[in-house]
Amino acid sequence: MLEVKNISFSYNKEPVLKNISFSVNTGEHLSIIGESGSGKSTLLKLLYGEYDLSKGEIHWNGKQILGPAFNLVVGYDFMKYVAQEFDLMPYTTVAENMGNFLSNFYPKEKQERINELLEVVELSHLANIKVKLLSGGQKQRVALARAIAKQPEIILLDEPFSHIDNFKKQSLRRNLFQYLKEKNITCIVATHDKNDVLSFADNMIVLHDNNIIAENTPKELFDMPKLPLIASFFGEFNTIVPYGIVYAHQIKVIEKSDLKATVIQSYYNGSFYLIEADFKGKTILFNNQSELEKGSKVSITIVK
Ligand code: ADP
Ligand code: MG
Repeated sequence: MLEVKNISFSYNKEPVLKNISFSVNTGEHLSIIGESGSGKSTLLKLLYGEYDLSKGEIHWNGKQILGPAFNLVVGYDFMKYVAQEFDLMPYTTVAENMGNFLSNFYPKEKQERINELLEVVELSHLANIKVKLLSGGQKQRVALARAIAKQPEIILLDEPFSHIDNFKKQSLRRNLFQYLKEKNITCIVATHDKNDVLSFADNMIVLHDNNIIAENTPKELFDMPKLPLIASFFGEFNTIVPYGIVYAHQIKVIEKSDLKATVIQSYYNGSFYLIEADFKGKTILFNNQSELEKGSKVSITIVK
């Protein structure tokens, strides 16, 4: 279990994180979300022991995580961290990068393990290519494979799929998160992508103003976003009196109703259109199966 007790940290004078506390059970997947600059990366670095805390303590299964003032070599065997800027060996191959932390004592087992890792991150076809020749997304996949090569107890991932294109992202995300769950590896992911969270995280925390402003399961936070900031993470939404936060998918066009909206614009979105409309002098957004004519009046209802 990871225990974060009342930690504070600042790079200079301004605090980045203030009195943060949370815990993560073994095998749990926790997402850390928040706007850019809210301190997600800083928090992961603190969990890794990269900086000294101004206040508070971090423990993994009772062992205290210490910063460089108390721990000369940053990091611990039981923990792996994949930073936003990954650190690879450019002049060696993909397979060699993945095998770098594995023992040479059992060559057959080592090769099998590398093959397994290549499959998890879908890089088998590039096993013998030098890393410097890879794209940003391919390098990120090598970095992920390296982090799980020697099974850690806990893994910290900073926007792990940010460089990976949509063609690969979906399957890679499923592969990696399923793999971590199967192996009961505790996983903490900083992200601004709801797709990293909704299907995979057991819990999520929302950072804002140096603090945790919400902490719950993704489902609870999605179903009942108490703040616009939380709703905005999940998608388009409106604030409508007296309904409160209303997602775009919670407004439906119906045959007849007292609520009338005037269409301003339709945006094609693949499986639906996002409609921008005027509702009592305010702009609202809602989803609709088909395009709606500019200037037309529609009856709407709110289904929460
Ligand atoms: P996020 O990952 O959520 O985008 P960061 O943890 O990177 O946020 O940054 C949090 C705040 O700390 C920001 O205001 C950022 O400018 C500042 N910051 C990040 N790294 C450093 C650093 N090495 N030195 C000084 N300030 C930093
Ligand atoms: Mg960051």
